[in-house]
Amino acid sequence: MERTLAILKPDCVRKNLIGAVIEKIQNAGFKVVALKLTKLTKETAGEFYAVHKERPFYGELVEFMSSGPCVPMILEKDNAVADFRALIGATDPAEAAEGTVRKLYADSKGENIIHGSDSQENAKLEGAFFFSTEEVVKIHA
Ligand code: UDP
Ligand code: MG
Repeated sequence: MERTLAILKPDCVRKNLIGAVIEKIQNAGFKVVALKLTKLTKETAGEFYAVHKERPFYGELVEFMSSGPCVPMILEKDNAVADFRALIGATDPAEAAEGTVRKLYADSKGENIIHGSDSQENAKLEGAFFFSTEEVVKIHA
């Protein structure tokens, strides 16, 4: 059983789409094993996206991700990382496939509703960024 780290971004929370997006995630077969509502600071948002520090959109991304509450979650499923990336769609909603979360709900490449880890290694690092071991529920004995 594989895990991935998702974040319902501040635009998702502002647009009252927490329930709709989680419903889609659960209908796709993902089990929620950790979840919280939290608000990143500029510092913690910058740390989470440190890999993009040199990119032109970094400043805007940090502003956006610290602009309001977000909902990080650890999700469990066979092939979770790749299947979740397929469920959320391309970074730019204009390029995202029909029926994907970003195609359905995102306004722009920057404000694109949801994050999903891009590898199993990053899923572990990103999961630990938001959750302690005690906060992750063991649903498989
Ligand atoms: N982003 C942006 N402009 C870009 C590329 C990315 O604002 O040209 C933002 C967007 O919110 C994206 C995040 O930076 O989700 C991280 O970028 P990445 O390339 O890792 O996309 P993702 O993995 O989220 O699809
Ligand atoms: Mg990424």
